[in-house]
Amino acid sequence: MEFQRTDDAIWSAIDAETNRQEEQLELIASENNASAEVIAAMGTSLTNKYAEGYPNRRYYGGCEHVDEVEDIARDRLKQLFGSDRANVQPHSGTQANVAALMALLSAGDKVLAMDLNHGGHLSHGHPKNFSGEFYEFHGYGVEEDTGRLDMDRVREQAMSLRPKLILAGASAYSRSIDFKAFRSIADDAGALLLVDMAHIAGLVAGGVHESPVPYADVVTMTTHKTLRGPRGGAIVCNDVEWLKKINTAVFPGGQGGPLMHVIAAKAIAFREAMTDDFKTYAKNVVENANILAETLVGRGMRLVSGGTDNHLMLVDVTAQGLTGDVAEDLLHSVGLTCNKNLIPYDQQPPMKASGVRIGTAAITTRGLNGDDMRTMGAWIADLLHSPNDDSLAKRIRGEAAAMAASHPLYKGQAAAAR
Ligand SMILES: *Cc1c(COP(=O)(O)O)cnc(C)c1O
Repeated sequence: MEFQRTDDAIWSAIDAETNRQEEQLELIASENNASAEVIAAMGTSLTNKYAEGYPNRRYYGGCEHVDEVEDIARDRLKQLFGSDRANVQPHSGTQANVAALMALLSAGDKVLAMDLNHGGHLSHGHPKNFSGEFYEFHGYGVEEDTGRLDMDRVREQAMSLRPKLILAGASAYSRSIDFKAFRSIADDAGALLLVDMAHIAGLVAGGVHESPVPYADVVTMTTHKTLRGPRGGAIVCNDVEWLKKINTAVFPGGQGGPLMHVIAAKAIAFREAMTDDFKTYAKNVVENANILAETLVGRGMRLVSGGTDNHLMLVDVTAQGLTGDVAEDLLHSVGLTCNKNLIPYDQQPPMKASGVRIGTAAITTRGLNGDDMRTMGAWIADLLHSPNDDSLAKRIRGEAAAMAASHPLYKGQAAAAR
């Protein structure tokens, strides 16, 4: 679609952001770089279309083409995760959780979910989030000595609490999640099982993390993290009765008209996620995380749980005399973008925190490999050990910029991405 750029204020900020993504190395575990085709689909005429309802059951006329788009998106999502039913309308992962909780629970019901201070997400019971407002959340956490979930302890908690729902899934847990064990605990405790696979959806799609779909009553996800699609949410389940409740909870329960331009982009991303290239990407994400974690541990850094099984790691910076906010700024100053993060049993407040969360999805998308991870691990360890060494920081800033420049994100696709 041809157009004239007239809004200089906005286009200059957009161009600057595109350049920032090209020039910096993105270690934020929840971010990724969608393909130029996915991005292009969001800038189309579909943004103009109202389509409240679901395909062939809309509240507006003229939906024949967007119906086609949503049908394809749902079919691909079902195929991708081997589920019987799907809803692709949630505007975000949090909106997917709004719908799932509304569908599965009544106000005031008890839920057992991962403690927010141990890696859970704010839509899993934060007191200021709707989830904490409307339901009675209780938390399970990781063991202090291992940094891992102990499923026997989760079982004990579930048996004494008897929640209506158990919620599995996290934003900052670096180990595989045992969905089969969660199912058995839910069955024994008489609870439903909701899995929020926001972070790991791309790893599940790529076959490098066990799928929750055979075990959970309902699975929610984001489409923009490891799954590498547009910003958004989605839900899959196998049971037709749950799907009916979820469809009602998404619309009209928590949303109005769906974002059809984003649903088109989701469909494109789901197709991409079925390819062999995507399987290779998912395998490399985990391999890169492993090498980066081993490099950091080899250089004397403490990682929560000692390492990683997935795309992320939590680096404890306490022993270096730092807090997470300082470490985040330090890494940002050399072109490595990450976020401060609470570590389990943290003594610091959330705005400081004792750790940084580092993920390998985006840097794997741009083609970085194991040797690059060894280099990057050395940079991070050197910087965190010598936070006041300006000449060290200057050298690393130059080397990081060169690494980014030699792996352009949108090579030859600049027109679509810009
Ligand atoms: C990122 C995340 C979400 C929410 O995603 P948004 O799209 O930001 O609303 C939900 N659950 C978990 C576990 C997440 O990590």
